[in-house]
Amino acid sequence: MSEEYDVIVFGAGVAGLWIANRLTQAGYNVIVVEKEKLGSGQTMASQGMIHGGQKYLLQGVLTPHAVAAATMPPRWQASIEGRGEVDLTSVEILSEEQVMWPAGSLVSRGAVRAAAARVNAECRKIETNDHPEPLRLHKLQGPVYALPEKVLEVRSLVLALARDLDGRILRGEVTDLTAEGVVTVSARSLCARLIVFAAGAGNEQALHMLGIGQRLTQRRPLRQVMVRPLPYALFGHGVAMGAQPRVTVTSHAIGGGEYVWYLGGGVAEKGAKMDKAAALRFAASELEHMFPAIPWSDKEWATWYGERAEPIDEKGRLPAAPVVRQWGCVLFAWPTKLTFVPALSDAVLGRFKDIPPAAKSPPPPLPVAEVGAYPWEVASWQTVA
Ligand SMILES: Cc1cc2nc3c(=O)[nH]c(=O)nc-3n(C[C@H](O)[C@H](O)[C@H](O)COP(=O)(O)OP(=O)(O)OC[C@H]3O[C@@H](n4cnc5c(N)ncnc54)[C@H](O)[C@@H]3O)c2cc1C
Repeated sequence: MSEEYDVIVFGAGVAGLWIANRLTQAGYNVIVVEKEKLGSGQTMASQGMIHGGQKYLLQGVLTPHAVAAATMPPRWQASIEGRGEVDLTSVEILSEEQVMWPAGSLVSRGAVRAAAARVNAECRKIETNDHPEPLRLHKLQGPVYALPEKVLEVRSLVLALARDLDGRILRGEVTDLTAEGVVTVSARSLCARLIVFAAGAGNEQALHMLGIGQRLTQRRPLRQVMVRPLPYALFGHGVAMGAQPRVTVTSHAIGGGEYVWYLGGGVAEKGAKMDKAAALRFAASELEHMFPAIPWSDKEWATWYGERAEPIDEKGRLPAAPVVRQWGCVLFAWPTKLTFVPALSDAVLGRFKDIPPAAKSPPPPLPVAEVGAYPWEVASWQTVA
């Protein structure tokens, strides 16, 4: 006979773990099945920025993304302070703020001012003497603002979300799935009243298993760039003209008071269209322009190439909010951004409102899934000529 659960969540990224926490608190018998390691898809590769929408205002208009994101930071803050829906009191905050600085020609100063004017009143202008060290070194001219948006240490986030699911996050491979809620995992037949796929790119495989041919997902590639060692941290967005930052920088301690800078934004979007060597040369030349006082030729470089696995709406666009779709007893969940996970969990819990907890089976005897690595912990490093 199949082992029975109220819920089987597939995927132990931030979405699956958050959803599993909330369902466990609601009294459901939940197990999480992870194909590789906790956070090993997009979550551990993310920059950990809890966007409140300000970054999206760089596009010059109040986008639906910006409006939807604005309600998320208070949800995260409540959990970080121990009065929210999940316990994030142990999560390390890498930075309370993200800096926005002009990273282009003279015109980019205007772009930063305009973006700052559009964002909420809490956006703070930083006086020249207080500019972050990497900007002060080359006496950056022009306005620099601080956005009140946190950057989280993502591993501590994953660990905090895994803590109350101890013994229930298992490693397994799904090979069969039905809309009636029966699933084969590593040769065991399991069943659940609802199955939740929060498996990032793995949602595509599950849709395929159910025979759903409709196009519901997209992949958008990125080539994040890593550079080390830097003696100072920086968190924020170098703004030039255009809808997206020229670079988005987060900094991660690697011991000895040094950091690896993890670069996204335009560097990662444009780098995705290049091979690794060209992307590294491009990133190095971008940093030489943006931070001319920092010596870059003595640094080590690496890239993380991956894909954002996202939903797509009927017009082929990225939805402005998280998405949940249901076929029979199987739900598919996409947060769209890490920031939106609290809203995603509301949408999933809404599907349980007429389903009282009932199942009693203990977790199946599958191996416990381990925590994944950061890209810079497993990268192969090189110099750039
Ligand atoms: C480089 C990068 C930077 C980003 N930075 C930010 C940021 O700063 N702020 C922000 O808000 N968002 C950011 N994002 C987006 C954010 O990371 C994602 O929206 C979010 O992590 C998605 O979480 P998830 O749990 O849905 O998916 P994932 O993190 O991809 O987790 C899915 C999990 O499912 C597992 N899995 C796959 N298939 C199966 C299967 N068949 N069975 C079981 N398990 C399976 C995978 O191994 C993985 O562990 C970034 C994304 C990228 C790629």
